[in-house]
Amino acid sequence: MNILLLGSGGREHALAWKLAQSPNIGQFYAIPGNPGIAEHAELIEGIPLSAHDTIVKWCQDHGIGFVVVGPEAPLVAGLVDRLEAVGIPAFGPTAAAARLEGSKLFTKELCKANSIPTAAFGRFTSAAEGAAYVRQQGAPIVVKADGLMAGKGVVVALSEEEAVDAVEQVFTGGGTEVLIEEFMEGEEASLFALVDGETVVLFGSAQDHKRAFDGDLGPNTGGMGAYSPAPVLTPELERRALDEILIPTARAMVAAGAPYRGVLYAGLMLTADGPKLVEYNCRFGDPECQVLMPRFTGDLVQVLHATATGRLAEVTPEWSQDAAMTVVYASRGYPGPHQVGSPIGGLDAAAELDGVLVFQAGTRRKGVGLVSNGGRVLNVTATGATLGEARDRAYAGIARIEWPDGFYRSDIGWRALGKATP
Ligand code: ATP
Repeated sequence: MNILLLGSGGREHALAWKLAQSPNIGQFYAIPGNPGIAEHAELIEGIPLSAHDTIVKWCQDHGIGFVVVGPEAPLVAGLVDRLEAVGIPAFGPTAAAARLEGSKLFTKELCKANSIPTAAFGRFTSAAEGAAYVRQQGAPIVVKADGLMAGKGVVVALSEEEAVDAVEQVFTGGGTEVLIEEFMEGEEASLFALVDGETVVLFGSAQDHKRAFDGDLGPNTGGMGAYSPAPVLTPELERRALDEILIPTARAMVAAGAPYRGVLYAGLMLTADGPKLVEYNCRFGDPECQVLMPRFTGDLVQVLHATATGRLAEVTPEWSQDAAMTVVYASRGYPGPHQVGSPIGGLDAAAELDGVLVFQAGTRRKGVGLVSNGGRVLNVTATGATLGEARDRAYAGIARIEWPDGFYRSDIGWRALGKATP
């Protein structure tokens, strides 16, 4: 089967690496891809991911039998609907189902209507009403704008004043509705499931590190590192999250006429009352995908295709008992302004180490070498019999990378490894 992978980050490099190992793969292409993905797939240049007509036509012209969509934007914008309309199966939800990520209000209402554990909330169409609710509930409290905000639409307010300010900013920023949530206390973990409409199969867990610097300090980022599995998510908690959150969500989506197909990524808060939903994402996490793929030992083409075509009940994903960790090597200055174009070496030397894989994110070929081309540039990933071993191997890999313009966190995994707490 000829396969097209969409996306250009470390997540997609990890997917490409695993997809390429499948005996079920024929021609393998990526749009737009990156130099790491180019080791596994032929890169197709000049087609933006927003050009749905062009992508559909290109797939028809090249006999593509299956499309794997990495990032969320094409899903929310309905690319899978377009591909399915011409009979090309694609991994990822339709636009209607991708509302689980694209609209926080949609998801909160779905949870409320189906008694799915999540933070209590109110929604308001004016700043005055929102502020009154904040005063009534007290702080800490969480203020959210609706829509895909790339992580910038959420304020966890520690005081009522901060919350009222955040409410006002939603409306002065052009928002028409604000979501105000109860503050949930606990440890966060990510739980992944494949969903083909009715069937829900757990697909690994992870924990990430959003802040830029050691000790969970500094600005929020797309993620500076991750590990899998998340030891805090015991089998019992996973079972509860499956039974109380993921399965009821899949059923509710079927009942709503928008069956969910793809990976459903639940951001969970593990509270004293059990797991509660913080948010859904409708695609693999980045960098969480980079720690799931090295632990998944099955045939990724088969499992993702079965998910997309309603045959998930026929497959059982297989996992290694190993732990995995990924450390993000980012451009100095990220997530703020940063230089691109600086030379990077040592990738092969790092990948020679036992259990080490280097996934590329923001890189570009320049002559025979590689240069940085974004904020998050490399994901130095390792597996090991224990998380400690995976950590030691990943940092040994980092030590072999030659990139003076990069930085990384040195404490990835501190929660699970009992390292210095912030
Ligand atoms: P991202 O996709 O980058 O995680 P987002 O804009 O989709 O961000 P959320 O995931 O809903 O926003 O919230 C971002 C973070 O804010 C969460 O990871 C969590 O740490 C915190 N948060 C959100 N809602 C709550 C809540 N009700 N109680 C406590 N913390 C919360």
